[in-house]
Amino acid sequence: MRAAPGGRPRPATLRSVTTTVSPPTLNDVVAAFEALYDPAWAASWDAVGLVCGDPGQPVRRVLFAVDPVAEVVDEAEEWGADLVVTHHPLLLRGVTSVAATTPKGRIVHRLITAGTALYTAHTNADTADPGVSDALAAAVGLTGDLAPLDPDPADPAGRRGIGRVGTLPAPMALRDFAAQAAAGLPATPAGIRVAGDPDRTVHRVAVSGGAGDSLLGAARAAGVDVFLTSDLRHHPASEFAEQGGAALIDVPHWAGEWPWLADGADRLTRALAGGRANVETRVSTAVTDAWTQRF
Ligand SMILES: [Zn+2]
Repeated sequence: MRAAPGGRPRPATLRSVTTTVSPPTLNDVVAAFEALYDPAWAASWDAVGLVCGDPGQPVRRVLFAVDPVAEVVDEAEEWGADLVVTHHPLLLRGVTSVAATTPKGRIVHRLITAGTALYTAHTNADTADPGVSDALAAAVGLTGDLAPLDPDPADPAGRRGIGRVGTLPAPMALRDFAAQAAAGLPATPAGIRVAGDPDRTVHRVAVSGGAGDSLLGAARAAGVDVFLTSDLRHHPASEFAEQGGAALIDVPHWAGEWPWLADGADRLTRALAGGRANVETRVSTAVTDAWTQRF
């Protein structure tokens, strides 16, 4: 038995695990992940899948993050991640260069230089069952059955779609639900915003990770008491309030999608050899919301 640094014997079990289980390839990991979050479910305008990386390279460490930004690449380098899975695409629109003269080109260069692959699961993770809004719903306290707010017509079972509608275990005041949502989501400098009478009772709730302007009509049609989403603009929110109906809660975009990361990491771990594959996952806690100060 070899002595570990410090002179203590190295545990035999640890040694056998690290030497007998070979890590999966990037191709294996991508296949497992795409069985959970089919790229075919992504919106036509989206760009999901492998951004960079050699399919044959071994993957031992997978970092999950919302945004493919420099701070996340710093963490990937420090931890020695072989793969970074992000929710948001790095390259959503066509490019003719990834030279390191642009911020996105520099990200590509840093990842390739470090031997780190980048993979995006965006609207396919939104629409999956369970998907991004299921994790958001759980984080803000919805329990029981959830239904899509905007069902995917391609899913005959009606389980997939954007956003989720569910109920709270018991009716509560809007102010208390807002406080519960704030406590359940990671803190950001911007905090959450509420539109509506804080004393009104809410029970039936719609949530949608990401920008929710386009779902205001669906939230009204669903007859919910409150709609929780991100990036609501003044005019759509004001007009929604003028028409009566649901209260609105606007949470920071990053915070609303972050809860999915742990779910995605857990599902990937279980999919890889039933959790026995020699792969470590980590969820980045870097707060990469665009809004960094509040005065
Ligand atoms: Zn998003």
